[in-house]
Amino acid sequence: MNKRLVIALTLLLLLTASAFAQDNPALTIHVVQRGENLFRIALQYGVTTQDLAQLNGIANVNSIQVGQRLLVPVQPGVSVQTHTVQPGETLQSISGLYGVSIAELAALNDMADPNSLHIGQVLNIVPGVPAPVEVSQPPPAADVPEPALLSAAIDVPASSQQPITVIHTVLSGETLFRIAMAYGTTVNAVAQANSLTDSELIYAGQTLIIPDIVPPQLAIDLPAPVTGLEVMPLVLLEGQTGRFRVMTGTAASVSGTFLNSPLNFASEADGTRSTALVGVPVGTAAGVYPLSLTVADASGAQIPVSANIQVVAGGYLLETDILLIEDRTNLLDPAVEDAEMNALRQVMSRFNPERYFVGAMGLPAAATITSSFGNSRSYNGGAVQRIHTGTDFGGVPGTPIFAPAPGRVVVADTLNVRGMATVIDHGWGVYSGYWHQTERYVQLGEMVSAGQTIGTMGATGRVSGPHLHWEMWVNGVAVDPMQWAIFSFS
Ligand SMILES: [Zn+2]
Repeated sequence: MNKRLVIALTLLLLLTASAFAQDNPALTIHVVQRGENLFRIALQYGVTTQDLAQLNGIANVNSIQVGQRLLVPVQPGVSVQTHTVQPGETLQSISGLYGVSIAELAALNDMADPNSLHIGQVLNIVPGVPAPVEVSQPPPAADVPEPALLSAAIDVPASSQQPITVIHTVLSGETLFRIAMAYGTTVNAVAQANSLTDSELIYAGQTLIIPDIVPPQLAIDLPAPVTGLEVMPLVLLEGQTGRFRVMTGTAASVSGTFLNSPLNFASEADGTRSTALVGVPVGTAAGVYPLSLTVADASGAQIPVSANIQVVAGGYLLETDILLIEDRTNLLDPAVEDAEMNALRQVMSRFNPERYFVGAMGLPAAATITSSFGNSRSYNGGAVQRIHTGTDFGGVPGTPIFAPAPGRVVVADTLNVRGMATVIDHGWGVYSGYWHQTERYVQLGEMVSAGQTIGTMGATGRVSGPHLHWEMWVNGVAVDPMQWAIFSFS
């Protein structure tokens, strides 16, 4: 995908609208931090709680979440500006970009330790000289990017600040006014670009062309031969997948750790692009964690690269008193559970450097989702002891199950807890599992293609009734499968 589009997508969500154009109403985006509430945020920006709630479509002012992005109007005359920290940026490079001293930046942002800067952090900036925004070149023709919100590609020279066109997918509750404001453009400009005759008539899921967006200045400071570092999404979520990608000018091999686990990097583009996928385990405390990388080039030099990465809470639910089918309660025995888990973990933690998946995955069933990933669960009136490690689709026995992406079958077995089970290796440390089947149509070792019918739903194993449990593992960690149906990690 066009790198500039990626940057712009990042931007929309994260950067100040005021940085784009002086004529438009000034807005900034505030990422809700732990311990904050709407009242405190309103106070911080000198606006009313009601204004904030209205602008962001918040019905219950007591209900905001850590990591949530809020549009905040900036008072005329108040030169609040924010900068969202990108991979490769340092306090020093940001200081240079805005002409603000490191000490001022630290003071403005209550940073006791300047080394605590993390990717995705939103810094308040009081610019010495506002960065001029030049809109001199015509935008390139619109093309439709794949959804890659919150990703950042930074291997674009900071000087290429020309206006670009981006695609916005309308979310439920959004108005054209709010969208235009968020992008620092006008209702008229968006309406015109999309031939909308009635600006009231937009709907959730509609894609809108947003013309003439100017990417932000970046202040990348990376050691040679590293030319780029991508972190997607910029802020990781508990229970979800993230992607670290290192670009180098010459062939290099990359290793590293995150959340105390080794990363597995796959190499592409003649060794100049290395990608590691990471699963953030459910239960990971919200906080800032170090990403430590070592880039080894052809000369044998070992170049350390580090960054701080924020993890925010996944906001998972509690699901109590699931009633298992009567004769299945013996399957709650920890010994039975552990033996099965250990055997599966062996298989699903391997790293296969070959990638079979491309882009976002499909869904494994044309059926209703009956339970989401990450919920804490209790069975038959017992204590809440288990986390739901997949997404459930309800359906009568015999409902077809599809492979959501290409891969190789590495488990085709009948297990105690999971019943008739299939596991597909999609490469790059990504595995998907299909539990509780009544029929299986694939063999161990077989390559399957996206959309292929691999079996049918059933009620085998530890179940309360017939359904498909779809599970995804990334680098040895169970993650939310639904993220894979929306984002492209290839
Ligand atoms: Zn399930």
